[in-house]
Amino acid sequence: MNWVFVGASTIASQYMLDAVRQQVGNDVTWVVSNSPDRVKVWASEHGIPNATTDLSAALSDPSVQAVYISSTNEKHHGQAMAAIAAGKHVLCEKPLGMTQAEAVEMVRAAEAAGVAFGTNHHLRCSGSHRAIRDLIADGRVGDVLSLRIHHAVHLPGNLQGWRINSADAGGGVIPDIVVHDADVTRFLLKEDPVSVVAQMASSGMGQGVEDSCMSVWTMPSGAMVMTHESFTHPFAGSGLQVHGTKGSIFAEGVMTQRPVGQIALVTEEGREEIPFSDHSLYVQGVSEFVAAAAGQGRPAADGPDGVKSLSVALSVREAAASGQRINVDYGGF
Ligand code: NDP
Repeated sequence: MNWVFVGASTIASQYMLDAVRQQVGNDVTWVVSNSPDRVKVWASEHGIPNATTDLSAALSDPSVQAVYISSTNEKHHGQAMAAIAAGKHVLCEKPLGMTQAEAVEMVRAAEAAGVAFGTNHHLRCSGSHRAIRDLIADGRVGDVLSLRIHHAVHLPGNLQGWRINSADAGGGVIPDIVVHDADVTRFLLKEDPVSVVAQMASSGMGQGVEDSCMSVWTMPSGAMVMTHESFTHPFAGSGLQVHGTKGSIFAEGVMTQRPVGQIALVTEEGREEIPFSDHSLYVQGVSEFVAAAAGQGRPAADGPDGVKSLSVALSVREAAASGQRINVDYGGF
């Protein structure tokens, strides 16, 4: 497929260009940005033949089949709706939109148009998370009692822009990282959070948006989920723990963009190190999206997955703002 990249972004240049180009028969033929100067430089640096500030010009190219959207969050909805109306398959960054209504509209429009729609939740594409999912599914921990996710990182200097100072662009750690933790939770436990309680804070980086959050989620099975997200923690590391009636999984360093970390399973028999594939998370995600666009299977995370991760994150923010327990509404999904 030929792709339009919408957004001359960091994630596009660091991971997604390469992930698309590693798929046989796929390349990026357009980049779209708001800045006429920057888009030309970006296209030339990355060997992309067409650069424009006019999304409709790129979408009207009949040789284009797919669109990847990695602009700032407030632009995702309008750009995705335009791409879907043009009959293109859409892989959209998280969070899908600023509101649940936006996300639902995008996903319903893609369904009606018969195009593939993916949400770029990379963590469920990793060998580590897939190994943890398999351990749980194979009953190695028994009944899951609790999941603890620690995802408090230090936002690199080059990303300390809209994420920390613009609510209008969708900044804040909740739309940025809680959505990923919601997706990981749903992926591992195969159930959707029912209700959440939460606290949020600005602990040195956030200017008008939260830079830290802790929350507790109730699952239909009765399992409890505890998550911690932050932009301000230089040395905390990341990981998750799954505790069950027969065993516990300790996964360190796995809430990341790279295929790294360690997983250990602890049971009555002792401690077992769990091997996992070190394939690229993004190459895997794009590969599953390309297959879905060809009618084979579904994207690693599809549209409803993106609606649900956003729904949990918005509920977490509402719970933190109100001090109330919030029942999660999934917008009909
Ligand atoms: P960036 O800040 O790098 O890019 C976002 C937008 O900012 C770009 O689309 C571009 O606007 C503008 N921009 C980028 N660099 C500059 C610059 N030097 N000067 C002026 N404007 C600039 O954001 P990210 O790449 O970190 O995030 C983009 C999206 O991807 C977000 O929705 C985010 O949530 C998501 N994301 C997802 C990840 C994942 O693993 N799934 C990881 C990281 C981000 P324009 O549109 O005009 O080109």
